[in-house]
Amino acid sequence: MLATCDIDGQSANLLDIKCLLIGNGMRYPQRVYEAVSAWAQLEPPSNPYSCSCIILPGEIAVHLTINDTSAFALDLDDNGQVCLLHNGMRLTEVSFPLATTYYDQLTSQGRPFGSIAVLEGKSLMAFFYMWPCEYIRTKETCEFCFQVRADMAGFNLPSPSDEEVAEIIGWGIEHAGVKQVQLTAGTKFIGRDECQRYARLLGAIDRIVGLDKIPAEIYCYVTAPKEPALVDQILDAGANRVAHDLHVWDRKLHARISPGHARHVGRDGQLRALEHIADKYGPNRAFSSFVAGIEPLDSMLQGAEYLASRGIVPAFSVWMPPAGSTHAEHRPPSLDYYSQALREFACLYRRHGLNPPGIAAGSHVSICHDVYRHADDVLGESQAEKGWEYVNA
Ligand code: SF4
Repeated sequence: MLATCDIDGQSANLLDIKCLLIGNGMRYPQRVYEAVSAWAQLEPPSNPYSCSCIILPGEIAVHLTINDTSAFALDLDDNGQVCLLHNGMRLTEVSFPLATTYYDQLTSQGRPFGSIAVLEGKSLMAFFYMWPCEYIRTKETCEFCFQVRADMAGFNLPSPSDEEVAEIIGWGIEHAGVKQVQLTAGTKFIGRDECQRYARLLGAIDRIVGLDKIPAEIYCYVTAPKEPALVDQILDAGANRVAHDLHVWDRKLHARISPGHARHVGRDGQLRALEHIADKYGPNRAFSSFVAGIEPLDSMLQGAEYLASRGIVPAFSVWMPPAGSTHAEHRPPSLDYYSQALREFACLYRRHGLNPPGIAAGSHVSICHDVYRHADDVLGESQAEKGWEYVNA
């Protein structure tokens, strides 16, 4: 049963709290780090760009975004346990993934594992930028893309070889409890090249590690190719799922925040490829993420319903306003926005028999698998009825 808390007079469950924490960040004093650093996978507050998380009861991982002005704060209770506070009121206890030596490791080519993939939660390994995004050349990069910003700022993110990717996955399964692998890279203008690159990479992982050694699943975020059938080679090479992200449903907003995607692929191109996968491979093999908080809720839910009714999983990440973005003044949405979004997604998963990607205590910013695991609590009896009304509308 998901615990509920009082937030400014409103009842909020721990998935609502996850959304609020990602959108608003939390205070993170040094004393919290010192209390748990001997055993927890956690970076100190002096490293605000780290990929650290907290784990809320119910195996809910939440990205630790540091914000010294947030109403939320981590602190120690009278027993020395870490807890989460809101305006000084204790909400719940908090835990962390166990420390590993993952971030001390180098690939055989001498590159730090952490510059190529991060560990999220207790068992997700996320590769974040395996090759550069070609939209940089035409200045059409997405507004929210951290990797491209780091690349353009001269951080010189490495492009690992297939063998290095396999090496990192193999180490992670054996020594860090990795159960699920997420592959992400920059967009290539020629969709055929991107699909071939992924298929070749999956072949190398299978040869060196064995795809069947990944306990949960491996999935790839791919730019939809103009000929949808090109993506077959990725699924045929062993990917459990493929994502073509829409980010938002509103076409004008899409063109503003993802100009490259909007011009070269477009929403129709993404949908064509998603529908091709669902038609050929069946439900639950294609998914597409929305970023909750960027567009009005009705618009996002319209898109989610369109996908779900076709066997494509609408996934749901929470928008994290990045410092320096042109959206920095944009306030994160309200508790009501998140609560309704969570209920409507839970209802869509139930109604259409969908099983979103993810794992317990996994992704820091995606919440779709948390919703799926806690659907009974999110829906409740009367809310389930409300959800059915929405879907039937
Ligand atoms: S296409 Fe992908 S890699 Fe390129 S800017 Fe957009 S999100 Fe980043």
